[in-house]
Amino acid sequence: MVARHDLTTDPGLQAQLLQARRGTAFFARKLNELTDAQLDGDSLLPGWSRRHIAAHIGYNARAIARLIEWAATGIETPMYPSFAVRDEEIEFGATLSPIALRNLFDHSAVHLSVEWRDLPDDAWHHTVRTIQGRDVPASETVWMRSREVWVHAVDLDNGATFADIPAPVLERLLKDITGAWHTRGTDKGLKVRVTDSDLTFGDPDAAVVITGPLPAVVQWATGRGTHGVGADGTAGQVPAAPKWI
Ligand code: ZN
Repeated sequence: MVARHDLTTDPGLQAQLLQARRGTAFFARKLNELTDAQLDGDSLLPGWSRRHIAAHIGYNARAIARLIEWAATGIETPMYPSFAVRDEEIEFGATLSPIALRNLFDHSAVHLSVEWRDLPDDAWHHTVRTIQGRDVPASETVWMRSREVWVHAVDLDNGATFADIPAPVLERLLKDITGAWHTRGTDKGLKVRVTDSDLTFGDPDAAVVITGPLPAVVQWATGRGTHGVGADGTAGQVPAAPKWI
């Protein structure tokens, strides 16, 4: 007998699971609005068609499901054997027929959702490893997936914007990105101030301050354009954000 609801009893995790599944549903909606011919069109990511995005999101669900299987069984199953294999898989996926590509997305999303649903409370604490080599609790996979589906729904370039992404997701994303800059030391002289909430990130003594509403600031921080953001201390020029990933 398979459970029909999530086994975890942690309310915080349940809320995160809801957010990831909503993001997946949002991505599905944007994907389904595209005709088969439109799948061949460009995405917002340089060098990637919409097919690449769909393939990437499908294989990402499979990769994250492997981490959940690892957490459940204790048998190490990496996300991907290597970055090269991951990239080859995406290139291959992008050549699939539209129906196969859509099935890849649908089936992988359902499979991951079931893996999450059936993971018992204690196993969510088990350590797994991301493709970047980070050791994280299995619970982190929910955020890893959330981030992918919400942001890449925008990358499909058929109407979704960062304003469609829930504020808690945007805030966590901005925290992650500015944290990564800080770790690498690429945020020197740069501060980010969100004008529609009381959030600031980055170098407190910065000469350059990027300002704007949360969706615009996150869009800029992810390297997806300067629309809606301003910059103090740069004579009006908004600098490109430091590299995120
Ligand atoms: Zn991605």
